[in-house]
Amino acid sequence: MNTQAKTRVVTRGTVTIDVDQCKGCELCIAACRPGVLEMSTELNETGYRFPLLSPGCTACRACRDVCPDYCFEVFKFDVPIETDS
Ligand code: SF4
Ligand code: SF4
Repeated sequence: MNTQAKTRVVTRGTVTIDVDQCKGCELCIAACRPGVLEMSTELNETGYRFPLLSPGCTACRACRDVCPDYCFEVFKFDVPIETDS
C-alpha cells in the first residue's frame, strides 16, 4: 500500500516562457497567486535565471501582465486537468 500523501492539483491552463528574453527580475514569481512559477538554477543565454512552470496554472495572465520583457503567452484549457502532485 502506498502511504505517501497525495494532493490533487487542478491545472486550468499553461504558459510559454521565452527564457532568452528574461532579465531575471522575478516579478512574475511574486505575481503568480497559485505559486506555480519558480526561478531556475540554470542561466539563459544572457546570464539570467528564468521562471519554470509547475502544474496548477490557473491561466490568470498575471505573469504576462507584469513581465516587462513580454516573455509569457498564456493559454486556457477548455477542460481543466487534474493530476496528483
Ligand atoms: S497564468 Fe497565472 S497561474 Fe499561470 S503561471 Fe501565469 S501567473 Fe501563474
Ligand atoms: S517577469 Fe519576465 S523578465 Fe522578470 S523574471 Fe519573470 S519572465 Fe523574467
